[in-house]
Amino acid sequence: MIIETNELTKNYGKKTALREVSFTMGRGVFGLLGPNGAGKSTLMKILSCLLKPTSGTALVDKHDTVKDPSEVRKLIGVIPQEYNLYNRLNPTEFLEYMLLLSGKAPNKKHVEEMLERVNLSSVKKQKIGSFSGGMKQRLVVAQALVHDPQVILADEPTAGLDPEERVRFRNLFSEIGLEKTVLLSTHITEDITASTKNLFVLNHGSLVFSGQVQDFVQKAEGKIWTTVVKNQAWEAFKGENLIISFMILPESNDIEVRFVPGKRNPPEGSHAIIPTLEDAYMLMIHQNDWKEA
Ligand code: ADP
Ligand code: MG
Repeated sequence: MIIETNELTKNYGKKTALREVSFTMGRGVFGLLGPNGAGKSTLMKILSCLLKPTSGTALVDKHDTVKDPSEVRKLIGVIPQEYNLYNRLNPTEFLEYMLLLSGKAPNKKHVEEMLERVNLSSVKKQKIGSFSGGMKQRLVVAQALVHDPQVILADEPTAGLDPEERVRFRNLFSEIGLEKTVLLSTHITEDITASTKNLFVLNHGSLVFSGQVQDFVQKAEGKIWTTVVKNQAWEAFKGENLIISFMILPESNDIEVRFVPGKRNPPEGSHAIIPTLEDAYMLMIHQNDWKEA
């Protein structure tokens, strides 16, 4: 196993951000899905040796992140959720510097290739300070890859990207996953659907699912229903059922809704539908009884 955690727990004072999280990862892309505050960044920071767990262990290629951080750092490339770049450098200088910090010899050709790969060749002489958000994000990806690590830890890398960049990024991660291990954290289900079948779901610091996307989705089978609700009946309907999503229909102003029926039988005229990952995820977030043994 390339990454292995054993009962990883992190408390910030009285707040438990991660609770006894155990999982393993081999090669490929693994999605880490969870709402804001679930503990994704905390887990990423522990794996990146930036934060020590309160208890439990994390191993990268059998090296302990607490006992052996210098070995772990050589093996990983990190795309943090928040970062500061050197605004006065150009991307070529920046990548050469990052390569140097990782203990590898500066290599102009390799840096050029890296810039090509993330589509920044045309701006290689421009100061980073002048870059757009998407360009900075691409540079952060290049920085994570430049020393050719085995493992990429990417914490919400698609946040703040426009749709085209988002698609390009997902494809880039799929490509990297052919050779390496990628842990991709996100709160957007589409990021998962587009890049991997391997899924971890975190909620309130606990790992509530680990396995294949289709098995997670299957848990919601038969639970998600749809119907059209008369506009004047909407308030009452909302009170009795868990709403996943809804839209107002043009002309009639009635409401088409995906929902989980409340305690009573599903209302007349509604029928169960094949759930999507988003349906299953919404259901998991809203239902406490989803915690796995
Ligand atoms: P995510 O990345 O999934 O949004 P985080 O790992 O950032 O979640 O945070 C998990 C929980 O820990 C949240 O409730 C957050 O408020 C809390 N937390 C994160 N960092 C700190 C910190 N440095 N001090 C105190 N609480 C923190
Ligand atoms: Mg985060």
